Amino acid sequence: MVGSAQLKVVNEGVQVSVHVTGIPAGTHAFHIHLIGKCEAPTFESAGAHFNPGGKKHGLMNPEGPHAGDLLNIIVGADGKGNAKVVNTHFTLGEGTNSVFHPEGSAIVIREKADDGKTDPAGGAGSRIACGVIEKAP
Ligand code: ZN
Repeated sequence: MVGSAQLKVVNEGVQVSVHVTGIPAGTHAFHIHLIGKCEAPTFESAGAHFNPGGKKHGLMNPEGPHAGDLLNIIVGADGKGNAKVVNTHFTLGEGTNSVFHPEGSAIVIREKADDGKTDPAGGAGSRIACGVIEKAP
């Protein structure tokens, strides 16, 4: 267990709050991925970034972004980090932009920062943590 994430609907979109502990200090990318399956150690099972619109990667990419692109999380020397971002490209409801599509979806943290433009994953290196997105009971 390296942390937790919560998604909730706000006026502007979906707010994603992430808290991590015990991961290496530095700046780490995190993204919503297409498949709700987290198989260690590579987490390739989660597939590519959630991208129902067929865009390119990156919040700063003129041909982007993927719906699942989020900002980076900064982790301190104590291994702890928090991030809170609002995303307007996916929903928690019905339809093709929903993270609750039939395959489910996952949040994956990367070893390095997302540069915001390099397709397909921001040059952010390997996947170091993964969590399946589930509806709260
Ligand atoms: Zn992406």
